[in-house]
Amino acid sequence: MQRGGVSFWYQELGGLPKPRPALDRSVSADICIIGAGFTGLWAAYYLKKADPTLTIVIVEEKFAGFGASGRNGGWVSGNFAWDHEKYLSSGTADQVKAMVAAFHGTVDEVIAVAEAEGFEADIHRTEELAIATNAQQFQRLAPELKRLHHWGDHRSWLENEAQLRARIAIPGAKGALVTSGVARIQPAKFVRGLADAVARLGVTIYEATRADEISKGQVITDQGRIACGVVLKATEGYSARLSGYERDWLPLNSAQIVTQPLPLELWRDIGWTGAELVGDMAHAYCYCQRTADGRIAIGGRGLPYLWNSKIQQDGRPTSGTIAQLQGILARLFPAAAHVPLAHAWQGVLGVPRDWCATVGLDGETQIGWAGGYVGVGLTSANLAGRTLRDLVLSKPTTLTQLPWVNRRVRTWEPEPLRWMAVRGLYAVLKAADRAEAKDRAYAPHLARLGAWIKSQ
Ligand SMILES: Cc1cc2nc3c(=O)[nH]c(=O)nc-3n(C[C@H](O)[C@H](O)[C@H](O)COP(=O)(O)OP(=O)(O)OC[C@H]3O[C@@H](n4cnc5c(N)ncnc54)[C@H](O)[C@@H]3O)c2cc1C
Repeated sequence: MQRGGVSFWYQELGGLPKPRPALDRSVSADICIIGAGFTGLWAAYYLKKADPTLTIVIVEEKFAGFGASGRNGGWVSGNFAWDHEKYLSSGTADQVKAMVAAFHGTVDEVIAVAEAEGFEADIHRTEELAIATNAQQFQRLAPELKRLHHWGDHRSWLENEAQLRARIAIPGAKGALVTSGVARIQPAKFVRGLADAVARLGVTIYEATRADEISKGQVITDQGRIACGVVLKATEGYSARLSGYERDWLPLNSAQIVTQPLPLELWRDIGWTGAELVGDMAHAYCYCQRTADGRIAIGGRGLPYLWNSKIQQDGRPTSGTIAQLQGILARLFPAAAHVPLAHAWQGVLGVPRDWCATVGLDGETQIGWAGGYVGVGLTSANLAGRTLRDLVLSKPTTLTQLPWVNRRVRTWEPEPLRWMAVRGLYAVLKAADRAEAKDRAYAPHLARLGAWIKSQ
């Protein structure tokens, strides 16, 4: 089994890409974007499409798709992070519902661009299954459906044990919240395809170039200076390493394992012929996909956070994290428990202090940003890209009115409080999951404690 090396998705492509040329002198541009993940690439894509005369450069420390965008679970969900109620501090209930609708639309938009630009990324339109694997998880399904309906999300319904079994064999599963209108992708294929499309439009992507300082009208990199009218920060989970942004978004780890391809007789036992996005209703939830070549990929939190926002760049999960994910594989898909693993890797996602995503542009400094997607970045980054286009072009649209736009959030506490809060939170959530699995009466108290820690 390979560990780290960015992700299995690149191994499937034959290895890591050779970086494009680095910046080799000081240059000027209308717009300089920092980070060539989905956020930076979508912003460049839509800006250049809207105004081909703009000069746009992207500086990327490693290569396009090195970050979470080339490592994720491939769930294009049309969701956003996570708590609709919290956006009421920056918008009305109707605006939150408009945001729900705009996010749903991103699934079609993302697929339409891949088709229009002619790149292939194992895209498969499907449904999402949030599976209840015990009685207490099952009790949460109906309230969750009600909450979604309340916010204008009408893509979901409940399926009982028998209906679920007709789709997929998961031992002990009691039912599921099913959501339509989602898609599965191969992340590295998608992000590399998008980077090529952006480059074809005339955007220069300087790879192996690290931004060290951002200020009004300029970006200082390790290779030279870029003078520009607008700076867009698209570094999401990596932002804490940028001077001045250390405590904005906490880098939270997410890790994955993927099996070798399963033999056909195992797939006959498991079902899963619709390649649905499969997750569970656990508090420390997991996310799985059936890959195009018949493997099971499973992701989960593992070791959630490293002291002082340290980032493990190569993405090598600990043995403990891999064992936890193997435990989920054995529990959900016992028939596949002994299929050898091909790869284990991890990456970071950005978490703001209120666990809600933002996109914005400071009118005075002309420094823009988007991120804090808390693990639902595939659709968020697309909507952020279109929103940044409208903000940069000073074009008020329905997108610029949404409650995540220009939302200001307080910063994280200094260490050791940050470390204690996040490690404590996940210890409590995992204890709540263990208690639910044994149907302990105190499990809801632990879950409430977790929610309380999160809301402080
Ligand atoms: C393991 C994992 C699984 C996930 N699964 C899903 C999923 O299934 N569905 C979903 O919706 N979301 C998922 N996410 C979240 C999603 O992948 C991210 O939210 C999204 O990819 C963020 O895109 P981004 O462009 O903002 O950031 P990134 O893709 O992280 O890109 C940031 C880029 O900035 C570069 N960079 C950083 N600092 C600098 C600097 N100083 N100078 C120059 N460049 C710099 C980095 O090298 C990186 O390439 C997952 C995340 C992880 C880690």
